[in-house]
Amino acid sequence: MKTTKADTEAAAKPGSPTSPVLADGGGKPGSPTSPVLADGGGKPGSPTSPVLADGGGKPAEPSTRPSNFVRDIILEDIKTNKYGGRVHTRFPPEPNGYLHIGHAKSICLNFGLAAEFGGKTNLRFDDTNPSKEETEYVDSIMDTVRWLGFDWEDRLFYASDYFDQLYAWAIQLIKAGKAYVCDLSAEEVRQYRGSLTEPGKESPYRNRSVEENLDLFERMRAGEFPDGSRTLRAKVDMASPNLNMRDPVMYRILRAEHHRTGNKWCIYPMYDYAHGQSDSLEKITHSICTLEFEDHRPLYNWFIEQLGIFPSQQFEFDRLNLTYTLLSKRKLLTLVQEGHVRGWDDPRMPTLAGIRRRGYTPEALRNFCAAIGVSKTNGTIEFEMLEHFVREDLNKRAPRVMAVIRPLKVVIDNYPENLVEEMDAVNNPENPGAGTRKVPFSRVLYIEQDDFREDPPKKYYRLSPGVEVRLRYGYLVTCTGVVKDPNTGEILEVHCSYDPATRGGNTPDGRKVKSTIHWVSAAHAIDAEVRLYDKLFTKEDPNLTEEGQEFTANLNPNSLEILTNCKLEPSLKGTPALRGYQFERLGYFCVDFDSTPEKPVFNRTAALRDTWGKIEKREQQG
Ligand code: ATP
Ligand code: MG
Repeated sequence: MKTTKADTEAAAKPGSPTSPVLADGGGKPGSPTSPVLADGGGKPGSPTSPVLADGGGKPAEPSTRPSNFVRDIILEDIKTNKYGGRVHTRFPPEPNGYLHIGHAKSICLNFGLAAEFGGKTNLRFDDTNPSKEETEYVDSIMDTVRWLGFDWEDRLFYASDYFDQLYAWAIQLIKAGKAYVCDLSAEEVRQYRGSLTEPGKESPYRNRSVEENLDLFERMRAGEFPDGSRTLRAKVDMASPNLNMRDPVMYRILRAEHHRTGNKWCIYPMYDYAHGQSDSLEKITHSICTLEFEDHRPLYNWFIEQLGIFPSQQFEFDRLNLTYTLLSKRKLLTLVQEGHVRGWDDPRMPTLAGIRRRGYTPEALRNFCAAIGVSKTNGTIEFEMLEHFVREDLNKRAPRVMAVIRPLKVVIDNYPENLVEEMDAVNNPENPGAGTRKVPFSRVLYIEQDDFREDPPKKYYRLSPGVEVRLRYGYLVTCTGVVKDPNTGEILEVHCSYDPATRGGNTPDGRKVKSTIHWVSAAHAIDAEVRLYDKLFTKEDPNLTEEGQEFTANLNPNSLEILTNCKLEPSLKGTPALRGYQFERLGYFCVDFDSTPEKPVFNRTAALRDTWGKIEKREQQG
């Protein structure tokens, strides 16, 4: 039997606390709907104003680095020699999906802080929930953390490594009278638990003898009782204002094969019992997690105190939310399973695998994460800010090339029939060291359909009848006429004449042209497919739906446009996957994994800023 996250989330709303027996995820708060947090936890939607770190998050010396409250805590702990000056963090993903951009924030924070202070970071898979976890996810998570540029060295751990120790500690708590076996059903536990306004009621099984508890717990482990029929609960305080402290479940009975321990166990620890103890075993000093765990901190501390073990400390920061984006593994899984996207690494997905395939670089993501910083209030960052850091990074290093994605044929009537000239083109104006390359020029070229108008509107300076423009690195050409399909009126060819004195785009007489456009020589062009991506959702907050609708109702039907007749300059032949380029005047593009030597496929990473689009819009609006 599987319980979905939807059930947990619904059950986690104030007034109807999560059912501890059935909760998936080991009872881990799955979203900011954690019971106690509901009111004071920061309003989603109130934007955190991002402070831009030294104009792009360049790694700076510790002294000049913009600080944040977590970093300040660490600085203070170093000063007071708490933990002997040690900084040891961990990144604890649950292997139930691919990592997303929100995880990047947590990874950068955990690894970044440890690195800054000469500390260490562990990678720990939080695999206490066997029914949802898969090895595929474990592999992709490791791959992604490395891609982002971080290294856990030999410190790869699994919460399941600690199942024996956790069991032994449970026995210790039973012996100390701090834990008991409870026979209440899930529904009864819910009723007994009370609500935010009413205290809970003690379970009739709360005062079992230590001997009886030891016997029953051992028999739970031995498989004598059906799934969900009993739990081991911590004996804390049923009257606590914090629902998490009302005798939380530590163990549930669940017959499910675990990806690492197989069928060794039929009882599994809940998140709240496993997490802090795992931190403690690894001697983690600063256990940094997201705000929805804030009200779990007293319980985190309670277990550590009762057991008298190494005192790791938990700190909470704000979850990343991005406009037009969903950052929930459960919902991303739905998109994959229902076929709304082509897989976890679809370039429209906010997963790090998708973002990578789209052509985003690890440097851009790290700069973005540095710039958004961390705070104590949840907010939402504009998607455009992420794109800004991608453009900024690619602008510095992506080679420029010419590519025509919606081709229109141009014939230069006075250019010699069989002549091919090699024109010098600059590889990256931002980086003189990147050098130049040769681009072939000939009589028949392709230009963008957008760069020609037979009837140009006002302020349109590109090619049109009688108008002269510069072909980048080529010549100045003047449009002399068009050839149209006699039936449809569609423009098939544009005819031009060129001025041989303007080779390289220079004008010896100093005359000016208002526009420079890109082109590709028809005889030399490589045919390619280009995939243009737009936002995956049409709403800033894709979770906002009409009554009865699913979040998938907000999917953007035009998030993918495939152009199959694109023409690229020949230097792009044989480019390896993920290599990024700027297609001049169009945007940043990279080679997709689907690419083959016969059929190159490029993804648009990000468009350039579209100034014409803005002018046109303004004109239309009057
Ligand atoms: P999801 O809701 O997407 O399933 P999760 O919190 O359940 O996310 P985990 O695998 O448990 O996912 O997360 C590993 C770590 O990453 C945790 O410390 C978690 O707090 C952090 N994390 C997850 N999502 C975000 C986010 N949006 N912003 C910042 N940190 C995040
Ligand atoms: Mg989760």
